[in-house]
Amino acid sequence: MALIDCPACKKRVSDKATQCPHCEFKLAGLSNDERERELQRMLAAKREKIVGQSMLALLIAIAAFTYYFIQQPLPETWAAKISYGLMVVGLVWFVVNRVRLVFVKRSRS
Ligand SMILES: [Zn+2]
Repeated sequence: MALIDCPACKKRVSDKATQCPHCEFKLAGLSNDERERELQRMLAAKREKIVGQSMLALLIAIAAFTYYFIQQPLPETWAAKISYGLMVVGLVWFVVNRVRLVFVKRSRS
């Protein structure tokens, strides 16, 4: 029994497996064409998920910023700390997702 790299998630799987145990990508019973199509479909779904997450992250940052801007909580209050924290988390999460998107795009030509 040998180990191969799953074409979808790049994790090690047995060459006897019909399906990747990590990402459920079908490994057996597919022609090269079908496998390629399946791979593209999975990557598209992955991209959509990341785009969705980055939109959510941006929304959180914008909501926190709007709250901060409108309410103008006093510095050192919890409201100020939480809205400021959410702004930072939202923006960082957004950037992380954009970077992940670039990597997903690059993993296939
Ligand atoms: Zn996999």
